[in-house]
Amino acid sequence: MAFDDPFSDKPLIFELSREGRQGVEPSRCDVPERDPEASIPGEFLRSDIEGSPEVSEPEIIRHYTRLSRLNYGVDTGFYPLGSCTMKYNPKVNEDIASFEGFLLLHPYQPEELCQGALRLMYELECYLAEVSGMDSVTLQPSAGAQGEFCGLLTIDAYFRDRGKPRKKVIVPDTAHGTNPASTSLAGFRAVTVRTGKEGVLTLDTLKEVMDNDTAALMLTNPNTLGLFERHIKEISDYVHQMGGFVYCDGANLNALMGIAKLGEMGVDIVQFNLHKTFSTPHGGGGPGSGPVGVKKILEPYLPVPRIRKKDDRYTLDYNQPRSIGKLRAFYGNFSVMVKAYSYIRRMGPEGLKKASTVAIVNANYIKERLKSTYHLPFDRACMHECVFSDRFQSQYGVTTMDIAKRLIDYGFHPPTIYFPLIVHGAMMIEPTETESPEEIDRFIEAMKEIDREARESPDVVKNAPTRGIKRIDEAGAVRRPVLRWQGSGGGG
Ligand SMILES: *Cc1c(COP(=O)(O)O)cnc(C)c1O
Repeated sequence: MAFDDPFSDKPLIFELSREGRQGVEPSRCDVPERDPEASIPGEFLRSDIEGSPEVSEPEIIRHYTRLSRLNYGVDTGFYPLGSCTMKYNPKVNEDIASFEGFLLLHPYQPEELCQGALRLMYELECYLAEVSGMDSVTLQPSAGAQGEFCGLLTIDAYFRDRGKPRKKVIVPDTAHGTNPASTSLAGFRAVTVRTGKEGVLTLDTLKEVMDNDTAALMLTNPNTLGLFERHIKEISDYVHQMGGFVYCDGANLNALMGIAKLGEMGVDIVQFNLHKTFSTPHGGGGPGSGPVGVKKILEPYLPVPRIRKKDDRYTLDYNQPRSIGKLRAFYGNFSVMVKAYSYIRRMGPEGLKKASTVAIVNANYIKERLKSTYHLPFDRACMHECVFSDRFQSQYGVTTMDIAKRLIDYGFHPPTIYFPLIVHGAMMIEPTETESPEEIDRFIEAMKEIDREARESPDVVKNAPTRGIKRIDEAGAVRRPVLRWQGSGGGG
């Protein structure tokens, strides 16, 4: 391997350690030293940090720089992960989020000293309400899943407030796994409803499971097949008639913003994933942000504090007797809000609409160009993502997993695979608006080439990837991690 190959065998940071070697030299302490045992109870103190590596500054920099090169991200290449909206995030929004006035703000700073931040949050709430057609927004939840949880608690609080709690939430079989999970966590029972032949929910199948004990229908629009739920209006009218709410998982807003408003389709409550659609990179474990928008009737139950504007002053209002309370410390992940605000301000209504439109065009372009090569279970105009299956290639013993691994050899991150669950061997491709036509063509050519290989030399595909780490036992790697790279033969 080349000497600068990040995969080449390098000692672990623990093996580089030499006793007494130091990476940083803290300046002399300018406050009186105290005996820690006199201030902190002994049970919270460690006598020794066992095995902590002692290395020089260049060693530590090289260690982390090398690790960063083992990574693949949207800044290194095409990342067509369906449902996750892995798009390029303009760096200018990062710059703005790191302005000192934002970065050094303390959450306990008095309101009169953080009017600018409160204004930004207040206006971001207004923009998100405008984009979705909702009446009020809270920015507090830290992720999409926590937004779902927040929304479901809000619905629960509404029914309890009227002395008539309801127990069921209906979730389509195409839903993201977080939907039934949040439902259970919020104390409801998740009831599955089947998706119809067209890949969308129909009123008739909904009627089979909906009753007076149903608090909400929780659906994703566009759904995780990338299809627009075209019966949404009659479905939401019916849910309302039955006294329930329509919750929309808004993680797929990248297909709708600037084009259609969920509020006008009858949706009562929605969460946004700012870390997917609104310019925060995600996938690295956060921070994220999952604001929740509601119609007026649910507003009293939103988490505290609410941000209020009176004349030119912004205040935090904790006086919300029917609120579900607090979901987390302070007000949410502020830096993500700054990026979303800056993104929306720069794009404007026309820019947001163009982003969604181009995302939809790109997905349909891929769908049309690949549908003679890969099986397309639902051959309809799609929104921001399209779903294929491995039906044609499986005749040669090549599966979705093999195709995904072979894409790595061609320099692409694989799409989302084996989801949604209702498509056997699903490959869910979301190109987003930020890829050039040339890059999308390269991806299409790679997919066609892999199909040719599947027919002519299936072993090549089945033994992929040949680059970097070979195919590993993924469950085993989590349970019994082997941190040392074991060269090209062994896997690691
Ligand atoms: C990503 C996603 C979620 C969960 O969002 P997190 O921020 O990862 O918690 C929920 N639903 C859909 C459709 C998603 O794509």
